[in-house]
Amino acid sequence: MKPITVKFGGSSLANAAGFAKVADIVRENPARRYVVVSAPGKANGKDHKITDMLLMCYQLASHRLRFEEVFDIIRARFMEIGQGLKIRLNLKEVLDTVEQEIGAGATRDHCASRGEYISALIMAEYLGMPFVDSGRMISFDSDGRMDESATYAAVAATLKKHEYAVIPGFYGTDASGAVRTFARGGSDITGAVIARGTDSALYENWTDVSGFLMADPAIVDNPMPINSITFRELRELSYMGAQVLQEEAIFPVRERGIPIHIRNTHRPGDPGTLIVPEQTEKKGTILTGIAGRKDFRVISVEKARLREEGDFLRKLVSVFESNEVPIENMPSSIDSISVIVPQAGIQGKEKKILEEIRIYCSPDTLTSMPSIALVAVVGQGMIHSTGVAARVFTALGQAGVNVRLISQGSSELNILIGVDNDDFEQAVRAIYQAFVKGA
Ligand code: ASP
Repeated sequence: MKPITVKFGGSSLANAAGFAKVADIVRENPARRYVVVSAPGKANGKDHKITDMLLMCYQLASHRLRFEEVFDIIRARFMEIGQGLKIRLNLKEVLDTVEQEIGAGATRDHCASRGEYISALIMAEYLGMPFVDSGRMISFDSDGRMDESATYAAVAATLKKHEYAVIPGFYGTDASGAVRTFARGGSDITGAVIARGTDSALYENWTDVSGFLMADPAIVDNPMPINSITFRELRELSYMGAQVLQEEAIFPVRERGIPIHIRNTHRPGDPGTLIVPEQTEKKGTILTGIAGRKDFRVISVEKARLREEGDFLRKLVSVFESNEVPIENMPSSIDSISVIVPQAGIQGKEKKILEEIRIYCSPDTLTSMPSIALVAVVGQGMIHSTGVAARVFTALGQAGVNVRLISQGSSELNILIGVDNDDFEQAVRAIYQAFVKGA
């Protein structure tokens, strides 16, 4: 039987009670063989995540300032967890070593990684499973990118020898053996990498929410949960997905067709959200979710017969590329193209960009429209149903929302709608109500 890889986030491991709850979840299903853990998160509203405090220690130590006071808080948090679980691990010795390393000038990544390291040592001891260090399996190249083939091979070879293991999230090592971390929230990536390397049947990602919701609860009252979503849909909804799952975490498992199940440690009975390669079951709604973001700028270029100029597009795109401004989307019509970019990305560069477009592309007109919000309406079901767009735009019209631009992805998986920043919330609510009965 294929294993299940489970990953628990910091909010599930904030104190001894959290560790105990996590252990119960692991023991409940013997297929949960590989357990990836984060560093303890906030235990209450007032304190800090262990990783943040370790980074504080690093900052202080690197300026030759006293970091011991902050480290004492970290020490107290871990000691309390150890005592609460009544484990035999010599935590004092482990903590002393980490403190010495920080004092001796350990790198930023090394310091940051120690929360996961100690967390995994505690969990391994409490569960009675071997601790297997990710530093032995996950390798980074000199640019800080994970070496995929070496890593998957090492995970497979190492964990083949262990029926069960607890593995720290967030880090690996580079060619010199030094610790390198993923981006913040990177234990999600470790979980995905372990699931892939061990050819797991499933990657369970346990967190403090019951999965994804169809819309942002700050905008829509009580939005319905998403029980299942495809990887492609999730990518389109990445504006909201990133808050629940580190975006990079989907790639290792997606390539292998391993589903991810987002579940809530505090409400294990909730169905959560299953992220799957293909949608098999028929869902109640055509729509999977609505997400969006404010503050985009639209630069529109109009030129008669621009399509006859073979290199028009290339010249236009290269202006943004050479100014290092990321392009979000490019809706077009026969004689015009709009380039949508995040406002933050173009700040301070706009004048230069417009000037360069004038020089290289000689447009008939060139306009720049500020403060646009983008709303992504996503659903695999849209491919097979007619009238979806009509419903979206009728709802927006009735709500008095002026649509500034529309772009339907060729995958027919999403419709992207540009509205004025001020209309953003209203637009999301109107679309939600048009598709969800009783909303
Ligand atoms: N502890 C790390 C962070 O706070 C990694 C993680 O929890 O995923 O970002």
